[in-house]
Amino acid sequence: MKNFLKTSRLEKDYIFLELTRSICPVCKKTVDAQVRVRGEKVYMFKRCAEHGEFEGLISSDVNMYRHSLAFNKPGRVPLEYGSEVKHGCPEDCGLCPDHQQHTCVALLEITDGCNLCCTSCFAKATGSKYLDLKTIDFMLDSYVRCEGSPEVLQISGGEPTLHPDLFKIIEMAHSKKIKHLMINTNGVRLAEDEDLARRLADCNVELYFQFDGFEPRIYEVLRGSKEVFKLKQRALENISKYNIPTTLVATLAKGLNENQVGEIINYGLKNKFVKGVTFQPMIYVNEKIEFDPMDRLTLPDVIKEIDKQTKSLFKVSDFIPLPCPYPTCCSLTYAFIKDGRVTPITRKVDIEKYLDYFSNTLITTPAPVLRKALEGLWSASATFNSASVLKDFVCVCGIPFNKDALEHLKDNVFRIVVKPFMDAYTFDVKRAMKCCIHVIQPDGKLIPFCVYNNIYRDRRK
Ligand code: SF4
Ligand code: SF4
Ligand code: SF4
Repeated sequence: MKNFLKTSRLEKDYIFLELTRSICPVCKKTVDAQVRVRGEKVYMFKRCAEHGEFEGLISSDVNMYRHSLAFNKPGRVPLEYGSEVKHGCPEDCGLCPDHQQHTCVALLEITDGCNLCCTSCFAKATGSKYLDLKTIDFMLDSYVRCEGSPEVLQISGGEPTLHPDLFKIIEMAHSKKIKHLMINTNGVRLAEDEDLARRLADCNVELYFQFDGFEPRIYEVLRGSKEVFKLKQRALENISKYNIPTTLVATLAKGLNENQVGEIINYGLKNKFVKGVTFQPMIYVNEKIEFDPMDRLTLPDVIKEIDKQTKSLFKVSDFIPLPCPYPTCCSLTYAFIKDGRVTPITRKVDIEKYLDYFSNTLITTPAPVLRKALEGLWSASATFNSASVLKDFVCVCGIPFNKDALEHLKDNVFRIVVKPFMDAYTFDVKRAMKCCIHVIQPDGKLIPFCVYNNIYRDRRK
């Protein structure tokens, strides 16, 4: 006779919120996952038949988590899918017809090598391969076939500035009529070679510059050496000298550098070449780093730190979830700077009124114009050397539209983004299915970024 499990009939210590699918952190097989609320925090619990039970913190604030769910807009279909639906998400990438959003931003990883050795590297950039131009040409054409006129390409790696044909690749991407090019860089070569900064300044590119704070000890933990801080400083001097539009991108690890967010924002506000900052809470990438999935920084923690450290120059309420991916993937805000005064855009317009898609399905004129402009700003593909973003900004803020206004805004709009990527503890197929940031593969397929990092990167090596 079967033995049934006896219990003491207690109440569960959590509220069961929803069922989703995730992956086992050990074998990466797809498993069912429960989203649970305990106290004011949201956790993901899952069980792998072979490796046991796992639980990880998803959000430290259930109210912010639930509130964000309303900012979810209908997805757009790409012009072409790259795979069929066969086994179910996340095994059919892609993109497969079950995917819920087209590509807002594509990543082109042109090398698997790097001149740093970061403990937090999700690209696992320890190789020495450089993609050849023929393969890159094919990959870019695949992106164009899927998108028509693609919005944003991030040239990435590894460290893309190591590629001997970097400038040919930039030229090639421009020739495909991709609207905006970004270079994701750690800045080491920009520190060592001023001429590289000079040449990049002439290429109509934006830099996505890894910068984790102002203390050398941070770089010792995250980037392998205290000395990296000096390289960052030198790189910033060169970037500033040639005025290359730049977003500072900080990985934030709990107890290490979340105290830096205010200073990073202040630095950005004071330096015209810095157009914005992006904060990425550290994710679990491998067993070599000390990491507690139950005690990590999550999106609400970062936003609350920003409020605290900027003395409410930017408040928690200024951050609105991004509606093109799944809305727990990203929150952001914009501000404009006039005569040294910084005003978050949310103080001018009730953005929630327009981007809460469940409450506002019936908005009528003139709201659609404003909503469209807001959608332009609250898009993963919004970049700073884009006239359309500045026009949207003008529209939202009611600034009289003319050439001078656009020119002025170029140097006086500032954006703060908080982007918690998924790791094996937080991986949720709902977020994967609506991801709008995709990695172009040498065979032309597009794979959502977090899916690629958690599942496919190792398989494809
Ligand atoms: S992540 Fe998207 S493309 Fe990949 S299997 Fe899921 S639905 Fe398909
Ligand atoms: S700089 Fe970037 S690619 Fe290089 S090791 Fe660090 S995280 Fe990885
Ligand atoms: S990359 Fe990850 S965090 Fe960003 S939109 Fe895609 S699934 Fe969400």
